[in-house]
Amino acid sequence: MGQLRMNTLIDSFGRRHKDLRVSLTDKCSLRCIYCMPENFSGWQKSDHLLNTNELMSVISAAVSVGIKEIRLTGGEPLLRPDIVDIVSRISALPNAPKLSLTTNGLRLAELARPLKDAGLERINVSLDTLDRDNFKKLTHRDRIDDVFAGLKSARDAGLMPIKINVVLLRGINHKEAPALLKWAMNEGFSMRFIEQMPLDAGGIWDRTTMVTAKETMTSLLPHFELFPVPDRGSSPAEEFYINGTLETVGIIASVTQPFCGACDRLRLTSDGQLRSCLFSLEEMDLRKVLRNPNFTSGEIEDEIAARLYKTIAGKLSGHGINDPTFVQPRRPMSAIGG
Ligand code: SAM
Ligand code: SF4
Repeated sequence: MGQLRMNTLIDSFGRRHKDLRVSLTDKCSLRCIYCMPENFSGWQKSDHLLNTNELMSVISAAVSVGIKEIRLTGGEPLLRPDIVDIVSRISALPNAPKLSLTTNGLRLAELARPLKDAGLERINVSLDTLDRDNFKKLTHRDRIDDVFAGLKSARDAGLMPIKINVVLLRGINHKEAPALLKWAMNEGFSMRFIEQMPLDAGGIWDRTTMVTAKETMTSLLPHFELFPVPDRGSSPAEEFYINGTLETVGIIASVTQPFCGACDRLRLTSDGQLRSCLFSLEEMDLRKVLRNPNFTSGEIEDEIAARLYKTIAGKLSGHGINDPTFVQPRRPMSAIGG
């Protein structure tokens, strides 16, 4: 490593970036309708996927320039055969970042304990419904029992706090918010309702029918007393204390109340492209650097650090979903990493 590095990633709007979302694969075991059509076939080429060593080069370069948190995601990150090794190698880094993972939960029953032992701190599990038929409608798979079994194993393994991500869709699960929150409180999980975003491969997003954060609040308020938690920081979720307890529920209003002003996130796709935003139309190619046969490993890390600075320098002030000129990115959510 030759170059002097600044230990901060500050963009031209003064936002300090500390969080890197790392997509490990674009493949998935479910077909959530707001994410991927049932017959989706636009997969990345398998030889474009970063291998374990390549991923680790990017992550250690990112940590060296100020990344403090890594979230592993996908596609479905637990489909990666090397997932436990990845977690263990990130946890063993000098200045190891905080490490979490977002999963659909299907493989958690077998993997929760090995992941915890390898150093994973906590997880987010996506579960949009408690109803088997609705689960089938939403995911095109009859696997709700695997999610419940995975959640139990994760709790037993101590992967806490467990956050449950919910996307509400009108006409399917939009009436389930109060039941989901009651269930989560009983189970000791923390619930987050996320507005559906225009990032699906099937192009089904429709502003006029999406369930807004305001509607979700309206459906919760007859059942729960909700008090805003002060000091949201850079969290995308607006948090509320429930019924005077310290338990909280989060509402992520990505579309109707964007929180771009406090964004501290960067994203790495599983084929090695760096993105400054979910909605970026531009990417920085890191795979090309990682596979350059003329570079030493030190030169690779230096060039990746340089590309991290460059990506941050070009980051826009906001995602622009609400601008009339908004264009949905070519990559769907499953290929970016949510
Ligand atoms: N497969 C894993 C899972 O589902 O948790 C990780 C990847 S998934 C893309 C990450 C999160 O993005 C999930 O909580 C999912 O519900 C959310 N998501 C996917 N498509 C979305 C969309 N169009 N709008 C809002 N959230 C979405
Ligand atoms: Fe798969 Fe997650 Fe997308 Fe659902 S949201 S299809 S589980 S990547």
